[in-house]
Amino acid sequence: MQRLVLASNNPGKLREFGALLAPLGFDLVTQGELGIPEAEEPFATFVENALTKARQASRLAGLPALADDSGICVQALGGAPGVYSARYAQMAGQAKSDAANNAHLVSQLAGKLNRHAHYYCVLVFVRHAEDPCPIIAEGLWHGEVVDAPRGAGGFGYDPHFLLPRLGKTAAELAPEEKNTVSHRAQALRALVARLQAEESATR
Ligand code: IMP
Repeated sequence: MQRLVLASNNPGKLREFGALLAPLGFDLVTQGELGIPEAEEPFATFVENALTKARQASRLAGLPALADDSGICVQALGGAPGVYSARYAQMAGQAKSDAANNAHLVSQLAGKLNRHAHYYCVLVFVRHAEDPCPIIAEGLWHGEVVDAPRGAGGFGYDPHFLLPRLGKTAAELAPEEKNTVSHRAQALRALVARLQAEESATR
């Protein structure tokens, strides 16, 4: 097994990513377990943030690294909150919580007819810290922002993220369902396909 450091300490991500990457021969360890601090995320794009996190984790661990970054991009708001999704309300001087983020998003969309939004997830895999050819895999999940929250599942913006074809918000999906169609699931599948292609090409 090849050890791979995950540039996150989220136990949910460790489980989800670890299960899919084990068949490819990767044994995932979180950066926290190796005493590696979280990297700053100062950039305006998801991919730059994920690349920075992956490089830092790889450099400090001396291992290949995987990092992710994700958020929600709302068309009528020029893609906001985007990379600031986790601290959207905080940046407007409010609390740092899902409830405050959701209330702020709904207020920013007041009177707007265009409700289109997508969740975005990027995964960056580096073989070593200076890897000139990182593997970059992305996933997009399209939906609409609704004013009234629905559902108790998921997290973050899910109660306000309506999937028109399913007639449900992301918070109304069973976890297994969300985990097969979400932006993160799509990015993970794309990453696994890239790693498999690389493995068979170099065998
Ligand atoms: P992170 O990339 O996991 O740190 O996520 C950044 C932020 O994007 C989260 O704090 C949420 O606000 C938002 N976000 C990312 N993925 C989801 C999702 O699947 N559901 C709801 N919110 C999400």
